[in-house]
Amino acid sequence: MTIFYRYISFDYFIMNNIIIPQRFRLMCNNLYENYDCIVKYDTDIENKHFIGNKENRSCRFCNRNQRETKFRKEAHAISNLIGNNRLFSYYECDECNGVLFTQFESHFSNYMRLRHCVSQIHGKNGIPSYKNRVEDFSRIDIKDMISVAQKEDEDAIVNFDRERHIIHFSGKRTYKPSMVYKCLLKMALTIIPEEELPNVQNAMDYLMGRKKYMCKLPVLYRQYGGIHPFGKPICFLYKRKEKRIKENVPQYLFMIAYGNFVFQLYIPFCDNDKFLQGKDCNFIFIPTPEDITQIPIKELLDLSSDDRVEKEEYGIDFSFGSYEEKDLTININDK
Ligand SMILES: [Zn+2]
Repeated sequence: MTIFYRYISFDYFIMNNIIIPQRFRLMCNNLYENYDCIVKYDTDIENKHFIGNKENRSCRFCNRNQRETKFRKEAHAISNLIGNNRLFSYYECDECNGVLFTQFESHFSNYMRLRHCVSQIHGKNGIPSYKNRVEDFSRIDIKDMISVAQKEDEDAIVNFDRERHIIHFSGKRTYKPSMVYKCLLKMALTIIPEEELPNVQNAMDYLMGRKKYMCKLPVLYRQYGGIHPFGKPICFLYKRKEKRIKENVPQYLFMIAYGNFVFQLYIPFCDNDKFLQGKDCNFIFIPTPEDITQIPIKELLDLSSDDRVEKEEYGIDFSFGSYEEKDLTININDK
């Protein structure tokens, strides 16, 4: 079996005497007995890559053509918020790109800001700094060193565990779960091949607000240790096999990995998934090479709610080998 991922295959691990654990083999079997990979895009490439046809352009999201809307901007197929500046599409118009999708990204950015800051994800304006509230003095900046400015009367944002060599960063986030979901779904619906589009029309209508659904929208979130194990974003789309071992699996699985993070979802509301209603549906885990050597933090999220979540507490741990601590304390009142 050959998998995957950038340029690594099982042979790489065998050649380097890295033992492939049984749980990882099971994960791979589980995936490949039920799914085929139909799309893979790696954004760690030298030149810009555009998906789709440059001539006769038409927006797959709002269905308007180049006489009805404009296609002047370069539309990122995968958000540039998570470090993509190589993969673009020809089939997203300026209006969809500029209005609706910017809103999705803004919620996703709020949702992940602290984690992106700690993990040093290069977004639109470089690596984000982190503050609990705009008006706070306390902030985290990570460039060559971790710089923490903390004011005594504001909520603690960093706890330094010197014995266990862990820095725990904590923060608060305000976001709409459904908008975070749509940010991810939009990427899935951008990379899905043209010929599969009729199968995902309901998801497209949900994304664009043309239809509403009341049901759970599960997303599997994983967080891995180490410095940028995934680097630049890489994304995959898997399609259910006709002949498979597990009957009750959704038709399309999407996964995006970048920095220390992996998000996985299935494309919801497919007509071909109607037989799954009321059944226990298997949400199969897509393995990454990191699963060979580490067990990530996993969360199964439900991002279906349209209600704003206010000041939700969340965190991320950062472990390190050695460190040099500099006390840059200043007393603001003296100034
Ligand atoms: Zn459009």
